[in-house]
Amino acid sequence: MSILILAEHDGQQLKQSTRQAVTAAQAWNAPVHLLLLGGDTAAVAADAARVAGVAQVIRVDAAHLEHPLAEDIASVLVALAGDYQAIVGAHTAFVKNALPRAAALLDVALIADVIEIKGNNSYVRPIYAGNVLASVTNAAGLQLVTIRTTAFDAAGNGGSAAVTTLAAPAAGTLSRWVAETRNVSDRPELATARVVISGGRSLGERFESVLGPLAQQLNGALGATRAAVDAGFAPNDIQVGQTGTVVAPELYIAAGISGAAQHLAGMKDSKVIVAINHDPDAAIFQVADFGIVADLFDAVPQLTAALKQ
Ligand SMILES: Cc1cc2nc3c(=O)[nH]c(=O)nc-3n(C[C@H](O)[C@H](O)[C@H](O)COP(=O)(O)OP(=O)(O)OC[C@H]3O[C@@H](n4cnc5c(N)ncnc54)[C@H](O)[C@@H]3O)c2cc1C
Repeated sequence: MSILILAEHDGQQLKQSTRQAVTAAQAWNAPVHLLLLGGDTAAVAADAARVAGVAQVIRVDAAHLEHPLAEDIASVLVALAGDYQAIVGAHTAFVKNALPRAAALLDVALIADVIEIKGNNSYVRPIYAGNVLASVTNAAGLQLVTIRTTAFDAAGNGGSAAVTTLAAPAAGTLSRWVAETRNVSDRPELATARVVISGGRSLGERFESVLGPLAQQLNGALGATRAAVDAGFAPNDIQVGQTGTVVAPELYIAAGISGAAQHLAGMKDSKVIVAINHDPDAAIFQVADFGIVADLFDAVPQLTAALKQ
């Protein structure tokens, strides 16, 4: 039997996270099918068909899937589930919104945030803010799994999958799409950025004015602690951590961040971590490769100016 991946896309291209799910799905040694939902998925189907390791692309186009709601995504998954051994998605907001609903409708467990797929329906997933790795075996016949994107490389191009089209089930009536408000940014996407500059609540109202120029200089994404988000200094879609986005960039700069376990859970796998904190005993220094004990309002502008030279 095959593996079905719930794909995430912008209408033109697959998200990097879906390519990471494709890599993860190879662990089953079974044909991998990619499910595209949308109003018109013709363009993204061409992109998806090129992904190495994908045997088949399934398009489900309908007006009500232009902005797919969890209820409608789940009803497509339920309709297709009988043909698959596993349904897999990246552990992103889009997939986390839909897959639990499908799992409930199918009456099977969802194994979430998996970092290793060991075979025989066994998985490794972090628990307790990443302090413990649990080995889990799922006895269900159908496996529903989300994967932590930072644990898997993105699949490249080189494939030539067949593309098929299926009719969508009728739209649900319990909810309807009304509007979408997006934070428009020309910075890289947080989850896949090569450089992330994160700040804590100590930045206050100067969050953007202090960190923004450094992010621009390094072509990085901005991240924030939950304390900074809760205080209204940073938007909640850039929260890094256990209850935010998990990142593993080449370079993570943590400015004015204490290093609480819930924050570390979202960034400690970064390749190089630079911490700026005026408290030499701050926990963030325990995971940092480079530590600067300084006032961030001095150190960050100096760093930005030095990089400009
Ligand atoms: C269930 C749960 C889930 C959570 N999920 C998350 C999550 O996903 N992400 C997350 O980040 N947190 C999360 N938290 C919150 C977490 O426990 C911490 O409260 C939070 O990360 C602290 O944020 P902070 O480092 O900005 O603030 P603080 O802990 O207040 O630290 C501020 C730091 O800034 C330093 N500082 C202050 N002024 C300066 C200055 N001028 N120059 C240099 N350094 C300075 C201080 O020395 C201090 O170390 C969660 C908590 C719970 C209970």
